[in-house]
Amino acid sequence: MAKIPFNWPHMTGKELYYIAEAHFNGSLAGDGPFTKKCHAWLKKRAASSHALLTHSCTAALEMAALLLDIKPGDEIIMPSYTFVSTANAFVLRGGVPVFVDVREDTLNLDETLIESAITSRTRAIVPVHYAGIACEMDSIMEIAAKHDLRVVEDAAQGVTASYKGRALGGIGHLGAYSFHETKNVISGEGGALLVNDPGLALRAEIIREKGTDRSRFFRGEVDKYTWQDVGSSFLPGELIAAFLWAQLEDAEAILAQRLESWQFYHTLLEPLEEKGLLRRPVVPDDCQHNGHLYYVLLPESANRESVLAELKRQEVNAVFHYIPLHSSPAGRRYGRAHGALEVTDRQSNRLVRLPLWIGLSQAQQEKVADVLQKCLTDVR
Ligand SMILES: *Cc1c(COP(=O)(O)O)cnc(C)c1O
Repeated sequence: MAKIPFNWPHMTGKELYYIAEAHFNGSLAGDGPFTKKCHAWLKKRAASSHALLTHSCTAALEMAALLLDIKPGDEIIMPSYTFVSTANAFVLRGGVPVFVDVREDTLNLDETLIESAITSRTRAIVPVHYAGIACEMDSIMEIAAKHDLRVVEDAAQGVTASYKGRALGGIGHLGAYSFHETKNVISGEGGALLVNDPGLALRAEIIREKGTDRSRFFRGEVDKYTWQDVGSSFLPGELIAAFLWAQLEDAEAILAQRLESWQFYHTLLEPLEEKGLLRRPVVPDDCQHNGHLYYVLLPESANRESVLAELKRQEVNAVFHYIPLHSSPAGRRYGRAHGALEVTDRQSNRLVRLPLWIGLSQAQQEKVADVLQKCLTDVR
């Protein structure tokens, strides 16, 4: 069996056809027909009042920080166990990330620790739905309402996943999606901002269009467009939107296939968990996840580096993430940890992500499980 890659970007087969159509239409700048189709799809799927394509999830989070008027010294509560963009987007505005520990089961922001991290400078909470498994959003929204805070969901990994029947990204005041090639639905680089608070929608359009009311001008609501506010160019061109449209059309099939592979690992690895060789992901009852990634937590006695090296020798490409932000050089400089972050430190050192992509065969998954079992039995 040949080497098993960690990721393989999935193409639906229609991407180049739609790109050719955009090319033929001669409409290549942003907000053309394909962008509009993507907006309508996202808005409907997430039951959001507005959806706006961006260059990336990072760009969507940067827009969120601008929209919330984050000022130097403002504090934003978030997990340390996340990708750098969650924090960077707010740090760019002078915001201070306040890192709160994660839950043992989901590795998501521990909602029971949020209130004790709130100060007079706190402005927002940024829950990250790790692996497309939802944070405890009811509690988070309740805490936010009580303390008059805004909630920005980092739903980069959460496209087509839901919490109590509500789409991730569509629950907080704002939500950010990623269509990076390593995610479920892709456009190479790409993202979207979901504006769920209708009061923020008009300004979101302005910030995305270089600070102008060009979107209103195109809708015929104003007779000229001018500089209205701060902003930048956050919108992708039509070629990206055309590619993305092919993926969104197939999003339900992509979801079904990823869930199938995820479930196959889950079944294969159950006996290993029973033997105490690893811990499998936990999906709370309220969460319908999207099979975005499959991870295992190794026993504390196992040496992750040697497990990863052995997997590689057996031609299985597995990886780990994240280096917790509170222990990274920039995280220490720009943010602060709330409490000890023990779960973050312990679990992030034990986590291994297994290959998961559309087209991965069951035979390949069996091999991954076999190799994993062998090296975990050896290290004991
Ligand atoms: C992938 C990811 C991002 C960044 O997404 P881009 O589209 O690459 O900017 C942000 N947050 C999380 C949790 C992610 O997984």
